[in-house]
Amino acid sequence: TESKNYTERLEKTVEKRTEQLTIALAKEKELNELKTRFLSLVSHEFKTPLSSILTSVTLLSKYTQTEQQQKRDKHVNTIKNKVRQLDTILSDFLSVERLESGKVNYKIEMFPLSKLVNEVVYDANMLLKPGQKIVYPENIDNIILNFDEKTLELVLSNLVHNAIKYSPENSIITMEVTQEKEGIVLQIIDAGIGIPAKEQKYIFNRYFRAENALVNQGTGIGLNIAKQHLENLGASLYFFSEENKGSTFTVRIPVNVEEKISK
Ligand code: ADP
Repeated sequence: TESKNYTERLEKTVEKRTEQLTIALAKEKELNELKTRFLSLVSHEFKTPLSSILTSVTLLSKYTQTEQQQKRDKHVNTIKNKVRQLDTILSDFLSVERLESGKVNYKIEMFPLSKLVNEVVYDANMLLKPGQKIVYPENIDNIILNFDEKTLELVLSNLVHNAIKYSPENSIITMEVTQEKEGIVLQIIDAGIGIPAKEQKYIFNRYFRAENALVNQGTGIGLNIAKQHLENLGASLYFFSEENKGSTFTVRIPVNVEEKISK
């Protein structure tokens, strides 16, 4: 019986070790898949803007005479836009990394909403397609928010950039601000491609991109990060969208942010 007991114990140990190893291997596999996915995403997303920068720089060096000023300006603009695009992709990845590792430090303080809106619109104006226009409220000088300014800037830029990216030339993008009893509501409204009804439930999933969006470049990270940040801060993000009609993204910031976070 002693040797039988011993064999049983041995079998149990082997079984347990095998189980532990299987779990470790699965984790390793998942990590490796994530790494591969990340690398393929980065290389894919970087390829197009980089090649367009290269073309523009090559052409730029050919236009040396003053009468070629317009052509030079066009290429300088392309370079600026593409560098910006690369910068956005990197910021998205860094944000994911920071959120995952819990390295985000929020700073809640008072700031005027108008300054933030002006900055976001100023930056976004440089990305507009021909004939696109951003309409935004100019009578919001009295609105002071108590929130994390950098995070809100990131979120609003993201939403406005999406509105530009997923709308056609000559369309209007509207930013609306409403002051309610419970807080401030910010809306970004576009008349763009919209989100197909059957894909709407996935839109905040990390890396998810709708079928009709694939002609544009993107990582599928922006909305996921925006929502996560806002929820960490007691605020919320939701949308209404109709394919081929447009989308409205709504950010709701409660008055008592600090209370919400401490809960
Ligand atoms: P990205 O734009 O880099 O793909 P986001 O996380 O910002 O990533 O958006 C995820 C997806 O949501 C997009 O790929 C697109 O399918 C959809 N989407 C986001 N904003 C809009 C919009 N304003 N109009 C239409 N589709 C949008």
